[in-house]
Amino acid sequence: MKIFDTHADIGVDVYEKHCEGKTDVIKSEHLDKWIKGEVYGLGMASFFKGDEDLDIAKAMVTQLKEEILLNSNHLHHYLCGDLHPTKINALMTLEGMCYINEDPESILDWMYSLGIRIGSLTWNEENALSTGISGSPLRGLTPLGQRAIKHMNKINMIIDVSHTNEKSFWDILSTSTKPVMATHSNARALSQVDRNLSDQQIKAIALKGGLIGLVSAKRFISLIEGENTALTLAKHALYIKNLVGIKHLCIGFDYMDFLSGFQRNGIDLDNASDSQNFIKALSQVGFTQEEIELIAWGNIAAFLKTQLI
Ligand SMILES: [Zn+2]
Repeated sequence: MKIFDTHADIGVDVYEKHCEGKTDVIKSEHLDKWIKGEVYGLGMASFFKGDEDLDIAKAMVTQLKEEILLNSNHLHHYLCGDLHPTKINALMTLEGMCYINEDPESILDWMYSLGIRIGSLTWNEENALSTGISGSPLRGLTPLGQRAIKHMNKINMIIDVSHTNEKSFWDILSTSTKPVMATHSNARALSQVDRNLSDQQIKAIALKGGLIGLVSAKRFISLIEGENTALTLAKHALYIKNLVGIKHLCIGFDYMDFLSGFQRNGIDLDNASDSQNFIKALSQVGFTQEEIELIAWGNIAAFLKTQLI
């Protein structure tokens, strides 16, 4: 079954491998895995840890776009409306905005003009806009961050809350007039890590009409070694469905097989070529084919079509 995965750090991989002198990273490192995993859409994140400046951010986003266009026989640079029926829909996203210290409106406009359609204000860090999961629990969204959220609402750039700390999460939800996504987070009730969402957060995202992308990072699936599998991730899907309904679920696997220095993914969800294991697991825990299709790509396709106008 076709899959739309809303989060993979492809931008940073392209940028780092270009720095090493490699070219056409998408084709040489990723494309075969996407095809094997029946990937139909992919949120390609330009990912920033917190100390990158605007020059690096612009270089990363530009290089990613160039690689997407270079592979236009397989990829469609998705901007709005219906998904391309046969190509892999490449959706450009930002994970972190540490390089914005002033004038968020014009930088976000530039990012939008390059094709960015989803963005999170922080990765795990504290920055001029907001506070990530590693920041002070007392610090949330800043006045500059409020301007960023309002501008993202205005230009139809979807807000991603996956890495925010709790205070920022609630600040962002009360500031944004539009639905938000947690592109790669699971249910904290099933795996007690800060990056997963509490029941209250899941309900708040759903109430606002947003989406939650199920993530295959191994500790976010389960803290018990050996249980971090596609089957356990499917139980997160079941838990969230029972809490808020099927229409708020999508996928954000966040495969890390191509990155160094990060935790890895679930045992049978190691890289994009394993993606169909999750489809089988959803069936094993009792989801109908119709529901599986909604989780795999239907919900995100409808959401993007509504939000990106
Ligand atoms: Zn992330």
